[in-house]
Amino acid sequence: MTDRQKQQIKALRRKGWSYSAIADELALSPNTVKSCHRRSGGNSVFGDLCRNCGRPIAQNPCTRERHFCSNYCRQEWWNSNRDQVQHRDSRTVECAYCGRTFTAHGKRPRKYCSHACYAADRGG
Ligand SMILES: [Zn+2]
Ligand SMILES: [Zn+2]
Repeated sequence: MTDRQKQQIKALRRKGWSYSAIADELALSPNTVKSCHRRSGGNSVFGDLCRNCGRPIAQNPCTRERHFCSNYCRQEWWNSNRDQVQHRDSRTVECAYCGRTFTAHGKRPRKYCSHACYAADRGG
């Protein structure tokens, strides 16, 4: 099955088409269409629960698995769990001015825990 076909299946399902109707339309076997939708477990499109609010998420197994019901919930969850989330390139750095340790993310090197320390150190 090609990505284009997956897209078409997704679009038609959204319009409320049945699997067999989609299969006819795209010249695929109904089993192919169904298996695409069944891949991430169960025959329900509501698989996982939203990590933030706990509501069931309308999963589309043809696409990447979703963990949140909405962008809003994802944003909220990330904001409140930022400290617990392991960043791929996070590391503990000691502030060059006050000596406090802090976690730095990303590739840019950081020497100071805050802008205040940066300014204080530079200012002498
Ligand atoms: Zn949610
Ligand atoms: Zn500092």
